[in-house]
Amino acid sequence: MRVPLIAGNWKMNGSAELVDAFGRAFADAQLPASLDVALFPPFPYLDAARRALAETPVKLGAQTLNPLASGAHTGEVSGGMLKELGVEYALAGHSERRQLYREDDEAVLDRLLAALSVSLTPVLCVGETLEERDANRTRDVVLRQVGYVMARLEPVQRRQVIIAYEPVWAIGTGRTATPEQAQEVMAAIREYQASFDRELADGLRLLYGGSMNASNAAELLSQPDIDGGLVGGASLKVDDFLAICQSAG
Ligand code: PEP
Repeated sequence: MRVPLIAGNWKMNGSAELVDAFGRAFADAQLPASLDVALFPPFPYLDAARRALAETPVKLGAQTLNPLASGAHTGEVSGGMLKELGVEYALAGHSERRQLYREDDEAVLDRLLAALSVSLTPVLCVGETLEERDANRTRDVVLRQVGYVMARLEPVQRRQVIIAYEPVWAIGTGRTATPEQAQEVMAAIREYQASFDRELADGLRLLYGGSMNASNAAELLSQPDIDGGLVGGASLKVDDFLAICQSAG
């Protein structure tokens, strides 16, 4: 039985006020008994979020991390520092990082390994562009992104990884993949993982991301291979994010 995970990625958004609003809302919320929830605010809000959410089941995640432990890398943040702040998850390979900061598969792998090295649970993000989908390359692109990383991990490391399927054309566009489109790709990812290890594939947590909101979450989450969501825009609205969490029960 896979425990669903709803993860809220604030990207470069939010405020101290929003952190407090989440703390208050989740302190009072009735969440499904079997559900993991995590919030990924920008680095400057992590410590305040840890305090605001201390009495709630909500865990913290980091949107990125540097592959190195320390050194002369102005502006960067290491996994060890995040761990010290109580962070438990780290994204690797978000399409905005791949596109805007030119992180290729190797850079994604380095970040994922850095997360694993300090016992942060990595969330590997994968997904095709609209051009790739239109050229019928979705499966090839997504399985390449998954395979590049998975083939380079030890079996024990593979079991730590959560995968988020986020079609690039659905991120921040209001254009959600249909439940059938998402299910098709996510079933292919699980099948691919089964080529390493069937037990790994059965236990793998797969999140859908791409304009998930309070209205479409329940239908997406009812698909057999969708075990949760990586939520961007709707995670900035407390009530919407709570409603998505509630529909994951
Ligand atoms: C994301 O940032 O990972 C995301 C899925 O964003 P949105 O929900 O806004 O599409």
